[in-house]
Amino acid sequence: MNAHFDVAIIGAGPAGLVLAKELDRHANVIIFDKRTIPHKRIACAELTPPMFLVKSVQSTSSMVTNYSGKTVTQDFAGKIIDRESWQESLLNSLSKTKVHLGEEVTSIDGKHINTSKGHYSADLIVGADGPTSIVRKSLGLLISPVLPAINIKCRAINHYENTFIYFIPEIVHGYGWYFPKGEFANIGIGATSNLNNALEKFLDYLLKNGMIDKLTLYDHSAGLIPLFGMCASPIPGVALVGDAAGLTDPLTGAGISQAFESAVELAKSVKAGLGAIGYAKSIEKTYKSFLKRRHIRRKILEDKWDNLSEAVEESWFQIKKEK
Ligand SMILES: Cc1cc2nc3c(=O)[nH]c(=O)nc-3n(C[C@H](O)[C@H](O)[C@H](O)COP(=O)(O)OP(=O)(O)OC[C@H]3O[C@@H](n4cnc5c(N)ncnc54)[C@H](O)[C@@H]3O)c2cc1C
Repeated sequence: MNAHFDVAIIGAGPAGLVLAKELDRHANVIIFDKRTIPHKRIACAELTPPMFLVKSVQSTSSMVTNYSGKTVTQDFAGKIIDRESWQESLLNSLSKTKVHLGEEVTSIDGKHINTSKGHYSADLIVGADGPTSIVRKSLGLLISPVLPAINIKCRAINHYENTFIYFIPEIVHGYGWYFPKGEFANIGIGATSNLNNALEKFLDYLLKNGMIDKLTLYDHSAGLIPLFGMCASPIPGVALVGDAAGLTDPLTGAGISQAFESAVELAKSVKAGLGAIGYAKSIEKTYKSFLKRRHIRRKILEDKWDNLSEAVEESWFQIKKEK
């Protein structure tokens, strides 16, 4: 007989781990991740809002946006976190939850979950499995379009309290970033163009501008930013959280705080006996109109890309402020 659980969480990223922690002592929970150590080598620039409830490595006070030879500096408070230690501590905090790492979920069929190692069932199946979500895919939902992105860690050669954003023609439909993280920094790009060529151009640009020293670069990691639409509960008995739910900002690529908040919201709904339906309603209320506005801005960025100055001025949230 299959092992049966109240809740099965697919994915031990921020969304899955926060949900598991919230439900740890309240329900019979199992969490799967295909990676043996899911918190290692995470592709992420680690910028979160200042109020985010995770220890900060460094605070930032403004954002410097560079495009078409122009520089715009605006107040923009942020907090750079360390995802590896945060996710590791979430994982270590689980006491009752069954944790199955190095076990890939291969399909979902009703209440049944098939993995690389066995078969399970659950009353509530949660897709916390990021932008390539097998849970979404099993239900016939789209897992495209996505924006490929790459992050590189480096040792900082300067100390900054700003985050830096770079729009350059080679990073097509996206941007490059430099986010300071104490004695380190996260740099990277997200683009629809060939990532390797775009990255090379971007690194040259940073080198020429004295932001980096090539010898201090290490640890590349690549990932995907979901640009597909939002869906929190496709059918009764299934909920999606974080990137799998399409909650990531399609303009900036930021999704850590939505992963956190959606997991907390789902846990609240489960504890209140409202399950996936109660959760879907509250998530729609919180994110639907924000995400719609951000999808419109992304479309402007893409449609006007040939005139980069106009594209940025009409879409980027630091320049064209929300009313
Ligand atoms: C390069 C890059 C930079 C980014 N920078 C930022 C940033 O600065 N700030 C910000 O807010 N957001 C950023 N993001 C977005 C952020 O990383 C995501 O929004 C966030 O990780 C979403 O968390 P999640 O738990 O929903 O999904 P994920 O973090 O993707 O976790 C999903 C987990 O599910 C597991 N999994 C997937 N499929 C299966 C399966 N079939 N079976 C079992 N396990 C599975 C994966 O191994 C993974 O551990 C960035 C993304 C990228 C790619």
